[in-house]
Amino acid sequence: MDPHHALALPHPRPGITPDNRFFWDGLRQRELRIQRCAACHRLQHPPAPMCSGCHGFEMESIVASGRGTIHSFVIAEHPAIPPFSYPNLIVLVDLEEGTRLVSRLVDVAPEVVAIGMAVVVDYERIDDELTLHCFRSLETAGG
Ligand SMILES: [Zn+2]
Repeated sequence: MDPHHALALPHPRPGITPDNRFFWDGLRQRELRIQRCAACHRLQHPPAPMCSGCHGFEMESIVASGRGTIHSFVIAEHPAIPPFSYPNLIVLVDLEEGTRLVSRLVDVAPEVVAIGMAVVVDYERIDDELTLHCFRSLETAGG
């Protein structure tokens, strides 16, 4: 048996449902899709069956620009859980469209990350089925 096999942990999988499948399908196509209520046009994330504003059930989606700013962050250092890399910068991003999502900040040193930092989405392909979103500093991503 390959001695490295036992170390190759599978990446954790998201729980995909009929309500959030569009989001994960979008990431595979390098699109950040955000759920929008067809009735009142409220954006919400994570996707849910019902609009939290007007309680409508007819939901659609928009493709976000991927630009935003860091609303808050936490730097996870210990315990280091494979397959994630550490320190792991977990950020709450205010998208310019007006909703928030939790993601990961990459290629930014922990001492540089700051609330208000301008960021832009990027995509991390895990395998054929799963692509994740992450964010980069808008400055180092080239504007
Ligand atoms: Zn609504």
